[in-house]
Amino acid sequence: MTSADSLITVSICIVPIEFPDNSVIRLLAQELAAVFKRRVEIHRSSVDVTLAFDPFRQQYYSSALLKQLIDNPACQSNCKVLGVVNFDLFIPIFSYVFGEAQLEGRGAVVSNYRLSNQFFGAKPDPHLLLQRLVKEAVHELGHTYGLAHCQYPGCVMTFSTSVEDIDDKNGRFCQSCADFLHRKKSAEFIEPIRAIAK
Ligand SMILES: [Zn+2]
Ligand SMILES: [Zn+2]
Repeated sequence: MTSADSLITVSICIVPIEFPDNSVIRLLAQELAAVFKRRVEIHRSSVDVTLAFDPFRQQYYSSALLKQLIDNPACQSNCKVLGVVNFDLFIPIFSYVFGEAQLEGRGAVVSNYRLSNQFFGAKPDPHLLLQRLVKEAVHELGHTYGLAHCQYPGCVMTFSTSVEDIDDKNGRFCQSCADFLHRKKSAEFIEPIRAIAK
């Protein structure tokens, strides 16, 4: 870790929500720390999933989970909050979503329900499942840092509607998206000086 990294105040909080596998969460935390070069913490969930459950669709409304995540008092006020779930998510205009995030906001949620090979009746592949989950988590967190969908082939910010789309992405930001994030990060260091100057 460099001295610049130790100055980073904006961290990422992962909030597993009824997620069964702690080792996956720990690996996800390591990957996100490496990608975003930020401190990543794992917080306990205070989310009541029953408030997000739609009995007619038999799915969970991701926006309702997001609202609870953002209001979660266990997290620092300036950190990004990533909920990780193992159940099926939806928003009203789509039959399902892999995740949802606030553009340039605080919260994101991601599900691995439809990312596993078993969902399609194929042989389990834990490594591939983790890769898919990491890509979707990076994608949703990218939105919280202000990135919109990207057209550059392979960029992690391209829009995915299937696991094939996710597998086609290389899991990294293209140069343009990476430059955008770099400028954001620089602004985080400048912010306290601005505050003093006010
Ligand atoms: Zn997206
Ligand atoms: Zn891009």
